[in-house]
Amino acid sequence: MSRPHARRFIEALARANPDPQSELTYVDPFTLLVAVVLSAQATDASVNKASVGLFAAGPDPAAMVALGEAGIAHHIRSIGLWRTKARHVAALSAALIAKHGGIVPSDRAALEALPGVGRKTANVVMNVAFGQSTMAVDTHIFRVGNRTGLAPGSTPRAVEAKLLAQIPAAMLRPAHHWLILHGRYVCKARRPECWRCAVADLCRYMDKTPAPS
Ligand code: SF4
Repeated sequence: MSRPHARRFIEALARANPDPQSELTYVDPFTLLVAVVLSAQATDASVNKASVGLFAAGPDPAAMVALGEAGIAHHIRSIGLWRTKARHVAALSAALIAKHGGIVPSDRAALEALPGVGRKTANVVMNVAFGQSTMAVDTHIFRVGNRTGLAPGSTPRAVEAKLLAQIPAAMLRPAHHWLILHGRYVCKARRPECWRCAVADLCRYMDKTPAPS
């Protein structure tokens, strides 16, 4: 897809959803970081349900370290991979205190050095908490990028690189939300709702879903 075509694609999503927001509940960079770590292979709704109690008991790295792995696990048992996630949250909280004075860093290298934090999580935190023009490619963005022709690629990293090259820099920050929400609610994995899609005329998917009769 050419850059002008990609721009029109993003502009159409913007018109459909002018003020996109993360659907994860958080109050500051630390709780955002923890919420994103918890969200791997889990829905935002399930994370939000568990994080209410977790963030009340552990609102900052020191309190989270005091809770300990077992205390954290107690709050997040309803989420998939909870054992691993409890270990990561305890370890990343300790690392924030040991290396960053208890403050979440804003740069990629420091974020990705934290336990349980990979490129996607770092991209979300850099974008949402620190206003940087990053593109976190989750399962929805990977699918939308490939299906529509916006940013085809065989790996999340390849799709990320195409999106960064295609989308004007000024639109990159909200584009992360526009693409996730579009994939989550309209361009769904099993049955994309093409009949009510804001970018149907720009999308190159050949097998568009007709309107239900
Ligand atoms: S037209 Fe269909 S396949 Fe294309 S972006 Fe819209 S929902 Fe997805």
